[in-house]
Amino acid sequence: AKEGGRNTFRFYSPEMDADAARRLGLEVALRGALEREEMSVYYQPQISLDSGQMLGMEALLRWNNPDFGQVSPLEFIAIAEENGLIIPIGEWVLRTACQQTKAWRDLGLVPLRVAVNLSARQFRQPNLIAMVRNVLAETGLPAAALELEITENAFIDDVDQAVSICRELKQLGVKLSLDDFGTGYSSLAYVSRFPFDKIKIDQSFVRDIIENPVNAAIATAAIVMARSLNLSVLAEGVETEAQAKFLRGRHCDSMQGYLFSRPLPADQFAPLLLGTKNL
Ligand code: C2E
Ligand code: CA
Ligand code: CA
Ligand code: CA
Repeated sequence: AKEGGRNTFRFYSPEMDADAARRLGLEVALRGALEREEMSVYYQPQISLDSGQMLGMEALLRWNNPDFGQVSPLEFIAIAEENGLIIPIGEWVLRTACQQTKAWRDLGLVPLRVAVNLSARQFRQPNLIAMVRNVLAETGLPAAALELEITENAFIDDVDQAVSICRELKQLGVKLSLDDFGTGYSSLAYVSRFPFDKIKIDQSFVRDIIENPVNAAIATAAIVMARSLNLSVLAEGVETEAQAKFLRGRHCDSMQGYLFSRPLPADQFAPLLLGTKNL
C-alpha cells in the first residue's frame, strides 16, 4: 500500500497493477485487431430437444492476439463496450455471420438461422436498425434467417424505448431472443412487453440442474413462463445427457451446449450441417 496524501490512504497491490497493465495492453491491441484479422467467428449448434435436429447456430466471437493469445470474449467485449469498439466489431461479427450463413445456404446446407449477440451499446446505437437492414441487404441473407440475442442490461435504462427498438427490429423480419434469462430482473410482466420469439435460460441454472433443486425450479419456472407467453425456450450450457433429459421432460424446446458440440470455426462447423434438413 502507498500513501495517496496526508490523510488519504489508497491501496495498491502488485495484482492490481498487473490487472491495469493487462487491461491497457488489451485495449491497445483491440484497436487494431480487426485490421490485423485477429478476430474470427465460431459457430455452436442449437438443437431441437425432440428431434435432435439442428435448428440453427449461435455466432461467437473469438480473438487471438500474438501477445495475449486467445482472449475470452467475456474479458475483451467488456472493454470494447466501454471504449465503443464494440460498434465496429459487432457490425463485423454480424456481417461475417450473415455472409457465412448465406454461403452455407447457397451450398444447399440449410441451417435454419444464425443467432448473433447484440451488446447493450450496439442496441442503443441510433443507426442500429439501418445497420442491420444494410447487412441483410449486402449479404442477401433472408431476415427470417437472422436471430438477434439481447440481454436485459440493454433494456434497463429506458424500457419503453427498448420495446420500440425491438419492435423496429422485428419489422425487419428478424427473430429476437432474450439471452441469459434468469440472471436479471426478467419477470413475466416485463418479458411480456417485448416482442421476443425465444428466451435462453442462462447456463448458470442449467449447470447443476440435477443436483440443485432451486436451480431446477428456476429453470422449470422459466420454461413454464416461456410457454405461457408462447415463446420458444432454449437451455444454454447443456453438457450431459441427464440435463438434456431433465429439460426434455419439462418441455424445453431446444438446447445448446458441449453435449452436442463446442463452438467451432466455420470449416469445422460445415460438416455438422450435412445432416440437417430443411424443416
Ligand atoms: P453467451 O452469449 O451467453 O454465449 C454462451 C457462452 O457459453 C459461450 O461462451 C459458449 O462458448 C459457452 N458455452 C456453450 N456451451 C457451453 C457448455 O456446454 N458449457 C459451458 N461451460 N459453456 C458453454 P463464449 O464464447 O466464451 O462467450 C462468452 C460471452 O461473450 C457470450 O455469452 C456473450 O455474452 C459474449 N459474446 C461472445 N461473442 C459475442 C459477440 O459476437 N458479440 C457480443 N456482443 N458478445 C459476444
Ligand atoms: Ca448469446
Ligand atoms: Ca447466454
Ligand atoms: Ca452469458
